[in-house]
Amino acid sequence: MINAGRIHSLNQLEYQSGSVVYWMSRDQRVRDNWALLYAQNQALKYRVPLKVVFCRAPKFLGARKQQYAFMMEGLRQVSQDLNLLHIPFHWLKGDPEKEVPEFLNRTRAGLLVTDFDPLKIKKRWKEKVCMNVSIPVADVDTHNIIPCRIASDKQEYAAYTLRPKIHRKLYEFLEPFPELKPHPFSIQTGSADQTGEKIGTDDLKIKETGDRTQFFQSGEKHAFSVLERFIREKLDHYSRDRNDPAKDGISGLSPYLHFGQISAQKIAIEVMETDVNEVSKESFLEELIVRRELSDNYCYYNNNYDSFEGFPQWARKTLSAHRRDPRENIYQWEQFENAETHDPLWNAAQMEMVKKGKMHGYIRMYWAKKILEWTSSVEAAVETAIALNDKYELDGRDPNGYTGIAWAIGGVHDRAWFERPVFGKVRYMSERGCRSKFDVDQYIQQIERL
Ligand SMILES: Cc1cc2nc3c(=O)[nH]c(=O)nc-3n(C[C@H](O)[C@H](O)[C@H](O)COP(=O)(O)OP(=O)(O)OC[C@H]3O[C@@H](n4cnc5c(N)ncnc54)[C@H](O)[C@@H]3O)c2cc1C
Repeated sequence: MINAGRIHSLNQLEYQSGSVVYWMSRDQRVRDNWALLYAQNQALKYRVPLKVVFCRAPKFLGARKQQYAFMMEGLRQVSQDLNLLHIPFHWLKGDPEKEVPEFLNRTRAGLLVTDFDPLKIKKRWKEKVCMNVSIPVADVDTHNIIPCRIASDKQEYAAYTLRPKIHRKLYEFLEPFPELKPHPFSIQTGSADQTGEKIGTDDLKIKETGDRTQFFQSGEKHAFSVLERFIREKLDHYSRDRNDPAKDGISGLSPYLHFGQISAQKIAIEVMETDVNEVSKESFLEELIVRRELSDNYCYYNNNYDSFEGFPQWARKTLSAHRRDPRENIYQWEQFENAETHDPLWNAAQMEMVKKGKMHGYIRMYWAKKILEWTSSVEAAVETAIALNDKYELDGRDPNGYTGIAWAIGGVHDRAWFERPVFGKVRYMSERGCRSKFDVDQYIQQIERL
């Protein structure tokens, strides 16, 4: 059984006839996927075929070839695994708000299931799809452990206000996943249902251009190996090592979580069952569950999650009061992008992101705060940080990114600190502070060697 709290109807239409389609978008996996399980459940109930469709939107939020290559490799594995279960995978290219309804109407589908995403662009796609189809559409939250709409019905102030709400419902939703079954109802040869493309060689050309990152291998299988290695070698020391960018002490799971190649719920279950240092376990679960789901809460309930207007009132007031403060250094986009600031630590962080496709979590805070310090306005700082993050991070274009940047620059989910130039009462970070926490020179040397 799938907890009904995960399922949200996007329109009030009744099922009549036709196959069930899962429009896979945020959660690109076959295992441990409540949206796919729900879609199969409905297809079995109506005794009809089940298919999965993915629509590749061009230039999604500034994504580059590296990120598309990572995604495509993962989707290729998805299509192979679905094939073994007799579930066809259909591949569309173009604007999803146009392509998805066209596909559903052409193939005379009877029910659409999709996965939850709090980002504005995804909400808009779904609204447009609903306007252009006459079948029921269900949105299933398979990214969060506690579905975002159920965890809270409003924008939360900080982690301490969301945490008790999550803990109260955790054991209701943290249930083991059933297996997806080979699907018994297949599509009739020659029927309208048969249309749809396979992932073609054109789409895989990306791979041949050498744009794949050498640091992360894509797909569900690799996601599980990264998880196993993290549990075996790093989890025990997570609380000690996680804030040290010179040590490889964090999980490295964010690219897989971002593309939905692994389920956070599955990770949480595996970690809870492991016998390791309790403090480390708690600290990892706090990041994986509370902080991650707090980001979805912020983006879902605050449409200005990617701009100054989204910041809390105290932060807007204090940042506005310091607009005219003199800045010692002001850099332009190219200087940031090419890591040409006066600060070797900032440059190393930027290069880590560009070369690896993933910057260490602790240094991300410093990186974003310095962009505020070295740009002419807070609006320009937010824009620059988001554009760089979305362009270079494998895990970018994600609620965690918009919320992390809003935390660093705009005091979101944080409190007021001592007043100082440019930042006002927004928390400040200095290079000296970093030196007291970890070996800055060792980190810089490691990045130079990449
Ligand atoms: C300025 C800034 C930008 C950020 N941009 C992104 C981004 O684009 N994409 C992204 O996924 N995360 C982002 N984060 C959050 C965090 O830094 C990363 O999730 C983390 O570093 C990913 O590495 P990991 O999986 O090895 O982390 P681990 O420490 O192993 O954490 C495991 C998982 O917990 C979650 N998590 C950890 N820290 C946070 C956090 N602070 N907020 C929310 N969830 C968290 C992530 O899903 C992460 O994969 C950003 C943070 C800041 C301050």
